[in-house]
Order: sequence, then structure tokens, then C-alpha cells
Amino acid sequence: MSTVTESAVRTALEAVEDPELNRPITDLGMVKSVEVDGDAVAVEIYLTIAGCPMKSTLTDRTRAAAEGVEGVRKVTVTTDVMSDEQRRELRLKVRGATSEPVIPFAQPDSTTRVFAVASGKGGVGKSSVTVNLATSLASRGLNVGIVDADIYGHSVPRLMGSSAHPSQVDDMIIPPQSFGVKLISIGHFLDGNSPVIWRGPMLHRAIQQFLSDVFWGDLDVLLLDLPPGTGDVAISVAQLVPDAELLIVTTPQAAAAEVAERAGSIAQQTRQRIGGVIENMSWLELPDGTKMDVFGSGGGQIVADHLSEITGSPVPLMGRIPLDPDLRVGGDVGNPIVVSQPGSPAATALAGIADRLVTRKQSLAGRPLNLGVTRR
Ligand code: ADP
Repeated sequence: MSTVTESAVRTALEAVEDPELNRPITDLGMVKSVEVDGDAVAVEIYLTIAGCPMKSTLTDRTRAAAEGVEGVRKVTVTTDVMSDEQRRELRLKVRGATSEPVIPFAQPDSTTRVFAVASGKGGVGKSSVTVNLATSLASRGLNVGIVDADIYGHSVPRLMGSSAHPSQVDDMIIPPQSFGVKLISIGHFLDGNSPVIWRGPMLHRAIQQFLSDVFWGDLDVLLLDLPPGTGDVAISVAQLVPDAELLIVTTPQAAAAEVAERAGSIAQQTRQRIGGVIENMSWLELPDGTKMDVFGSGGGQIVADHLSEITGSPVPLMGRIPLDPDLRVGGDVGNPIVVSQPGSPAATALAGIADRLVTRKQSLAGRPLNLGVTRR
């Protein structure tokens, strides 16, 4: 019969990751005590905050790790809550001792691909496209985040079925997760459906905080859901994350394409790259299999061609997404169509666009060199 030791249990706990911070709890100072009495083990772990939404995941993982130690028959896991001082130490461990908030995606060594999803006007499906692309990318095992930069018209939490309140560790905000995607939205901080009435500088500050005060970890892809049109927020994003590529969402309709083009052409002034154009609501498949062009046709290609001309570098039409009532229902119930109906034509088109986002080689063609511009 083997004798259980405290050190064997602690070693096993090294494999337990905090579900939000994705680091071993042993590194994060979250193991308060380990007591061994014969074949019985009692582990007490620290939660970062009282009422931590991840409490049961964390205790289950801890119990499973302790039960895996040879000779252990009985495991008790209890919890305590960190003090302010302990939270501060934890924040320093994961973020380093920076006094100024830093935007990780704006650092020269950042490997995160940042896409700002824009549209000329509202209602063309920009947010629906954003959440489905993010969910599709996360389902392939990539680390993905969404910033809901549409402060007035925030809709990402609803589309992703996320009603969680972000937890806070010291001055670091832990983003809730849905479908494996980390997200942050002003909607997470408001009660009910209260409106936001802010001027430009406050919008800028909110976007800056979403980018710098939220603990994103190592993301492969960050998507920003911009407000419709060519406003303050688009300019803030261009300043805060100069390498963000714009994705322009439009419907096939000529009038929509025209305003989408306007949204895209601000990239000229902000010196951002346009990653591509996405045409949404391209057709509706009728029960007899015929395709009906509800909003006309060709708008996406026209926008892509004009933006290629204006910018002098090729702007691809990345895909065309059909109208699908299930896409709308998925948004209403917070279950993106790429998860709920992955085989549907709309989900297939979205997955195809997600593929292109990550498989496309990073090209410097047409990319402004930002000569003479000092980056902060
Ligand atoms: P935006 O972010 O551009 O304002 P939304 O993503 O909120 O647009 O979409 C507007 C409405 O259109 C929502 O009700 C959404 O469910 C619906 N919608 C978007 N794309 C499609 C589509 N391809 N098929 C059916 N409904 C769609």
C-alpha cells in the first residue's frame, strides 16, 4: 500500500488550470492548504472573488487531480476567497508590474491577428457575422476574443448567450466566455437594457479599457465589432490598434454597398489595411431550391472592386452568406448558427470566411509602412 504525501498531491495540483486565467492554480497562489490524513486528502483553494462563476469547475478539477494520486480514497475540496492583497499579487503575476495599462495587441511582438468588423449602416448583419466567425475559429481550437466596440448598439452578449458579469481581480477584468470565445461588452456592465449616453472621449476610453484592462491571455484572433458607419470609435480603434485589419460587411444592395464603401474608404485616412469584404443576406433559398435575390445582387463584389481601386491593393470578397431564418433564431437565443446548424449553407459560408481569415498569409502588400509615425 502506498503512502499518500502532501508533496504528491501538490504535484498533481500543478496540472489544475484556472479556467479563466489558463494558468496552473499552483502558480497563481490559489492553493491555500493541502492536508493528508492516511488515504484522505483535504484541499482548500482560494477563489479570486466571492461568488466566482468558475467555482464548481475549479473545485471539480481540483478534486479530480487529487483523486488521481495513487492511494487516495477520499478527497474534500473547500474554498476561501482571496484578500485584496492576494488579488493584487495575482494580478502582478499574470500581468507583470506595469503601472500604465498596456494594449497587448498594439505591441510590436504581438502575434494576435486583429480584425475590426465594420459596416456602412446598421442591420446588415455585422454583429451576427462577428460572433459566428469568432465561434467558428474557437471551435478549431484557436484562442479567440471579441470586443463589442458598438457601445450604443451593443448586442454581442445576447448573440453569444452570455449574461455573465465579468469578474474583477484587482483592476484586471476577467472576460466571460461563451462557446470558447472570450468577450467583453458594455452590456456586461449595465443593468437590463439601460442606454449609454456618452460623448466621443468616453467611448474612446471604454474601448481603450476593453483592450488594456481586460485579461485576454494569448489570443490568436481578436475581433472588434465596430458601430455602423464611420464614427469616433473606428478612429479610436485605428489609433489604439494600428495593425487591425478592417472587414467590411455589406448586403448585395447597391445603396448598402455605397455606404459600406464609405466605411471602407476611411481606411485610407486611418492607414489601416482592409482584410476583405463580406457580403451577407446574399440570397434566400426557396423551398423549391431556387435562389431569390431579396436584396439584389453584386454589392459585395462592387465594394471589393472599388476598395481595391481606392487603396491600390487587392481587397478580396471573402464570402457570401445567404439569408437563413436559423441564423436569426440563433442570434435571438444566443446560439450561433455555426454551432447549432453547422451543415447549413449560411454556416458553411461563415466557416469558409473564418478559414480565409486564418489561412491567408500575412502580406505586407498594400500595408502602410507608418513611416514617420511614432507608435505609443
Ligand atoms: P448589424 O450588426 O449590422 O446591425 P445584426 O447582426 O444585428 O446587424 O443583424 C440584423 C438582423 O438581421 C438580426 O435580426 C439578425 O439576426 C438578422 N440577420 C443577419 N444576417 C442574417 C442572415 N444571413 N439571415 C437571416 N437573418 C440575418
